Formats: sequence, structure tokens, C-alpha cells
Amino acid sequence: MPIEMPRGLPFSVDTWSVRSQMKRHHFLTHAHKDHSSGILTHSSFPIYCTGLTKSLLLNQYPQLDESLFLRIEVGQSIFIDDPDCEFTVTAFDANHCPGAVMFLFEGSFGSILHTGDCRLTPECLYCLPEKYISKKGIQPTHRLDYVFLDCTFGKFRQPLPCKRSSIQQVINCIWKHPAATVVYLTCDLLGQEDIMVSVSQAFGSKIFVDKVANPELFGALNLTVPEILTQDESSRFHVFDGFPNLYKRAAAKLAEAKANSQPEPLIVRASAQWYACDEEYSCTGSEGKLRFDTVVKDLYGVWHVCYSMHSSREELEWALQLLAPRWVASTTTPSCSAMELDYVKKHCLASRLTPGDPLWKLLDIRVDGDDVSTQCTGKNSPVVERVPAEMVGGESPTKSKNGSFSKLPCTLPLYEGQTVTLFGRARLRIEDSFEKCGQLVSDKIGRELQVEIAREEESDVVKVKQQVEHSSVCGEELSEKDGSKVSSSGAASGSSNNLGENLKRYYRSMNVPVPRPLPSLLKLLDNHKRRTKRRF
Ligand SMILES: [Zn+2]
Repeated sequence: MPIEMPRGLPFSVDTWSVRSQMKRHHFLTHAHKDHSSGILTHSSFPIYCTGLTKSLLLNQYPQLDESLFLRIEVGQSIFIDDPDCEFTVTAFDANHCPGAVMFLFEGSFGSILHTGDCRLTPECLYCLPEKYISKKGIQPTHRLDYVFLDCTFGKFRQPLPCKRSSIQQVINCIWKHPAATVVYLTCDLLGQEDIMVSVSQAFGSKIFVDKVANPELFGALNLTVPEILTQDESSRFHVFDGFPNLYKRAAAKLAEAKANSQPEPLIVRASAQWYACDEEYSCTGSEGKLRFDTVVKDLYGVWHVCYSMHSSREELEWALQLLAPRWVASTTTPSCSAMELDYVKKHCLASRLTPGDPLWKLLDIRVDGDDVSTQCTGKNSPVVERVPAEMVGGESPTKSKNGSFSKLPCTLPLYEGQTVTLFGRARLRIEDSFEKCGQLVSDKIGRELQVEIAREEESDVVKVKQQVEHSSVCGEELSEKDGSKVSSSGAASGSSNNLGENLKRYYRSMNVPVPRPLPSLLKLLDNHKRRTKRRF
């Protein structure tokens, strides 16, 4: 799920929550449903996106109000005269799916590149303003302050074939199966049109898409590649739904052909999903999956080609080296975190916040210079950045009748030992959680709320420390609501054994793994003693 933009920004990107409704401007990077989920309940003008994204969206949701949208095309800059901070936004190709763009925001909040979903290539990045690009290893003349980066395959260390090479693999696979009188292409996802266009051109045939059975797909292809569509079912090429139950349906198609003594149809799936996720469907094991340069047949008879619309880790690292941004956060949560990337570990995590850092403004926090200076240079802040509790525990800005935001007074209730990383917060969407709490404690501002999100270690253990001072800030309010008791200090040990049921439920609801218990030191010592005794 896309993450919310920090509260100091007057715009949202790809989110349609109550929180994002409160922003004055809304941006949609592309028309994939995980980025437009909730848009039907959204009625706040304007939503900026490309003309094609708007058309694709109206094809998916005909009931959407067209007048909510404002068009921005690749290469176009729009100046937005926001009452709080005027800014300019420019759209750049994201190499993801038709109509997909990255947005570059430039204003008093700094310079922010939001990639949406992207497959970053040199062509994409060299379209950005020259001042943001490194040259011959020398940092750019202007550094991007923040990059919100698509880290979907950030854990995917193997190099991914480029789209052109993947498409060639699909064509080669079809050439090698001349006996297949029917070829099913699982290309029903927005962004896979290029495969169909190339197949159509290579074999001089149009592709059958059932308009009646699949009106949404037909509508989308009719907008993007109408020239390759046919309603003639006798065409050799058919689009095959990739979801749901692809493997069952594929096996059924093959069995049906066999039962009718027909030639075996060819079923080709061009996606990175199988390589990245579908472990249980791999017949060839991890070795087979490593062969990205060739097609691989699985147990069910489906031929796989690795076709990715997202950047590999290698591509992300290269892009970050080129852009050399000051901060990086993942656009989505929780599949991968930007903080796992080598660039971020090396260049971002070691940096400290200073009182003059634009990050404070981005987070809409008024900074008391002395306090921050003391905290930021304090002995107890060796690696992670110190961020005041208000940032995660305070209320959201509220919109007044005239549409302006009334900012809450933000003092800095800083505490010793309190650490929250920007990355950890973005990753865990902690803001959302505390927004819920914030509603419950709206009349209790000023109470002390202390949260620590330690960096996720390689062992995947997430340590969450929450301390609520005074009687009932979050824990007890939640307990009352849920009818069960949550210990406000029970989460401090980092062990799931000590997490309250509500907190465990919360982790699960956010699709975040419940922290695994850390091994007990006493137990370890005990085991060690026993082993030592046995030896003697
Ligand atoms: Zn997408």
C-alpha cells in the first residue's frame, strides 16, 4: 500500500484516506488498482494525473466524477499557488505502465521526487533536471532532499532482464512451439501491452480478448493498444487471466486439449511475480528461478518469462548513486524498506538532524533550536535520527471552514532514549496508528507519549518500545474500545510474548510481522551451563 505523505506537505500521492482528503492537492502516479484503492470515496478536487491515467481510471470506475481531475503530462511543469507554500510539480516517465509518471515537487519544503511505481532506467533518470544528476561521480549541483522510492523488488538482488529482452524471450518461446495452435498470453495487467504489441507484430496476428467476459480489460486495451484487438475467437493468440487460480485453469486447459486429442496449447506468463513470490508453484526450485535469461516451464505447464515493471535492487542502488538524495523512503509498505538499501545505510542513516534541517518543516514541526541541537548531538544518538514524539503522536492538522489548515502548537517534548527513524515510521505506517490514537486522545494533547522504533535488524526482529506516561493516553483508551486490556508498557521488551493482544492484532492489520521473541538471556546461559556440565 502507498504511504501517506508527511503532514507538512500540502499534497498527497496515491492515497485516498481520510487523512489524505485533508490535503489540498492530490496526485495519482498511475492507474494500477493498489494505487487508486479508495478513490471512489474521494471527493476532494483536484487530482492531478496524466490524461491516459484518468481515462484508464474512468474505465475501471465509471462512476468517478471526471471534473475532479486536472491533467499533467510527461515533461509538463505546473506551478501551484498554495496558500501555505507555493510549489512546482513536474511529471516524468516512470517506465512502469501506460500513463505512469514520477512527480518532482519543488518548493519551500525542498525538492522531492516521488517515483510512484517505476522501472528506473538511464532514459528515465536523465530526463530529470540536470542539476539533480551526478556527473562522473561528482555530486549533483542541487541535491534532491527526499526521494520516495518504489522498493517493491528492493530485496531482489539478482539482475532483472530489461523489458525488451523479456519480450524477446516470449517471442522466442512462441517460435519454438509451432505446433501450438492456441497461445494463451497471461498479459491482463496494465503495463503488459508492449508484450502483446510485439507478439502481434512478430506473428502478424491480432489478439483475442473477450469483450463480454472481460469488459474492463477490453476497455483498457482499447484505450492503449486498440490496433491489436480482435473479437475473432479463432485467432491463435488469446489473453489469459493471470488471476485468480492461474495454475488450476492452465492445467485444466492442457487436460482439455489432451482429452480432445488437440495439440497442446502454449501458456506463457510474463511476470516477475513467479520469480519473486510464487514459491509453491515452482517445479524447478530456486535454481530454475535464477534463470532469468530463458523461459522456464513449471509443474502445471505454464511457461514463465521474467518481465518486471519494477526496478531490481541493482537498479535502485544505481539510481540512488546517480541522484545522491539526502533522504530516501519507500513509497509502499511493507514489502521492502528503503533502509535496507546500501545507499541508504551508507549515506542516510548516518546523518544527523540539525535544527535548520528542512525535514522539520516537511513534518510540520516547529523546532526549538536549542532542544534539537542538544538532542541531535547527544551521546545517545549514535546512528538513528532523533525525532520528537509530537511527530508520531500529535494530532493531524485540521481544516478550517475556509479550507486553510490550522496548525497545532508543536512544542518539542523530547525524551532521553527516544528514537524514531523516518524510515521506520514510513515502513510501519506508524503515523496511521497514532492517528487512530490521536482521535482518542484529541483532548489530551500535552501528555507524554514516547515511542521507539528501532531499526529492523537483519534477523527481521522489529523492536517496538512504547511508553505512555500518565494514566490513559493510548493503551487504556484502546482497551476500553476493544473491551480488552492492553498494557501500555508491555511492548517494551521487543518480544511478542510481551505484546498485548491488541498490539499483535494491530501489527497483523498493518501486514507487519509480529515481532518474534528475542531469546532469553537466562535461558541461553542455562543451556550453556548444561552443555558445559555434559562435557565434563
Ligand atoms: Zn503499479
